[in-house]
Amino acid sequence: MAQGEIGFVGLGIMGKPMVRNLIKAGYSLTVYDVVGTAMEEVAGDGAKPASSAKEVAEAAPVVITMVPDSADSEAAILGPNGVLEGASSGSSVIDMSSIAPASSQKIGAACDARGVEFLDAPVSGGEPGAIAGALAIMVGGKRDVFDKFAGLMEPLGNSTYCGAYGAGNTTKLANQIIVALNIAAVGEAFVLSKKAGLDPNVVFEAIKGGLAGSTVLNTKGPMMIEGNFNPGFRIRLHQKDLNNALQTARELGVPLPFTALVQQVVGSLMNEGKGESDHSAIANFIEDMAGITISGK
Ligand code: NAD
Repeated sequence: MAQGEIGFVGLGIMGKPMVRNLIKAGYSLTVYDVVGTAMEEVAGDGAKPASSAKEVAEAAPVVITMVPDSADSEAAILGPNGVLEGASSGSSVIDMSSIAPASSQKIGAACDARGVEFLDAPVSGGEPGAIAGALAIMVGGKRDVFDKFAGLMEPLGNSTYCGAYGAGNTTKLANQIIVALNIAAVGEAFVLSKKAGLDPNVVFEAIKGGLAGSTVLNTKGPMMIEGNFNPGFRIRLHQKDLNNALQTARELGVPLPFTALVQQVVGSLMNEGKGESDHSAIANFIEDMAGITISGK
């Protein structure tokens, strides 16, 4: 079932499986990443490599971007050789990166000025969700543009319309606050249990069906118990999201005391060289303070 032409910029942990799912759903993909080897990997699945984001936009009327942070989205979409240089009026840009809501609003306004449709559509669910096509997709932009692309989102996951430009990324920040604080709470709970001489596996089994149960407990708890902090979602990306949450909170005059505390913890882990560890390594900070490890390793 042949579908339309889609452009995709940013072929990292998330972008590659998303490209593969769109190809499986019948779309033709033209792709670009600043790292050439990333393009070679998806070329093997049938994607056509391009030499710039501009060239991607010249080849496809709909371009999805999936890059790390605000500066990267702005470079890929608004910058020299970026998507807007190659996009014609009436085409569309869907930025699925997790970036600051104010940056999404800036990109949305620039797209409006060029007659190009825009959505900010960050995701949750990590690499497993991207591979399974089961991401939670949080979307900001014009309602009719969201409705137009509901079918395109289906091979990637379940999308929810959240409001105007930036609303998708504000929703993602809410998600990232809950995840970070939940990881810290799980880490503290297991360190306490371990120090008291309990088996963390038993504690996990006893509480996971109760009110403390969560997707974070179910996925990150076992990693802490095993002492396995391989990513997953990297500490450096979560620091970026917490920085964006605090920046947005400052702009809105909202105090986020517990988010600020975890942001400091994550900053300390970055200084210890743990930026590439999974964000479950927030527990390492609590382990170090207590002088034990949850795994006993
Ligand atoms: P990643 O670092 O693995 O990949 C990002 C890719 O973008 C890299 O290949 C990089 O070379 C490329 N890139 C950067 N700037 C570019 C530019 N200007 N033009 C073209 N390519 C460019 O990151 P990721 O894990 O795939 O995450 C992407 C986004 O998704 C981030 O905003 C992240 O916070 C978010 N996210 C990640 C996860 C996860 O579990 N990894 C989960 C949910 C959301």
